Amino acid sequence: REEMNIIQGALELRTKTVEDVMTKVEDCFMLRSDAILDFNTMSSIMESGYTRIPVYENERFNIVDILYVKDLAFVDPDDCTPLSTITRFYSHPVHFVFSDTKLDAVLEEFKKGKSHLAIVQKVNNDGEGDPFYEVMGLVTLEDVIEEIIKSE
Ligand code: ATP
Ligand code: ATP
Repeated sequence: REEMNIIQGALELRTKTVEDVMTKVEDCFMLRSDAILDFNTMSSIMESGYTRIPVYENERFNIVDILYVKDLAFVDPDDCTPLSTITRFYSHPVHFVFSDTKLDAVLEEFKKGKSHLAIVQKVNNDGEGDPFYEVMGLVTLEDVIEEIIKSE
């Protein structure tokens, strides 16, 4: 029964973690912070179909901004505007969440906050060097809802 699946899904929010439902970093559509908003870049953004796009500096593990596609409303591709001009103007906060956070806790965060997207990170202790934050992917409200309403 569908109702039972939804209740089952809701109960699983307490045991499942962000890592179980996130979109992995290698599958994320992201932009370099030094990108130029020319015709090619703007076309690839539109073709991606995503509403929110993480922006990284130098390497994909270093997320510094979120671009909303609606921020591009007044951008003319002929002007070749630097992406950083737009991200600096809107300056949306980047929300982070640890990969072992339970889904019910993330859902609370999404309900409280304005953004429905968070960057998933973990503390990497491997190797010789100092521990560092490693970006594992991104999670959106949709990923959590999907977990509730998915039918087996
Ligand atoms: P909206 O539905 O609000 O227009 P959207 O379609 O861009 O936004 P969501 O509906 O929030 O994105 O998420 C749909 C799926 O796409 C989720 O699995 C989410 O993890 C994934 N997703 C969202 N943004 C990106 C992105 N920039 N790169 C890759 N996957 C993404
Ligand atoms: P995003 O989450 O991608 O920023 P959004 O903020 O435009 O998208 P939603 O998150 O889908 O919109 O909805 C937020 C709230 O705003 C909901 O209560 C929705 O019903 C309402 N809403 C969305 N679009 C409109 C609109 N054009 N007019 C009035 N209310 C709207």
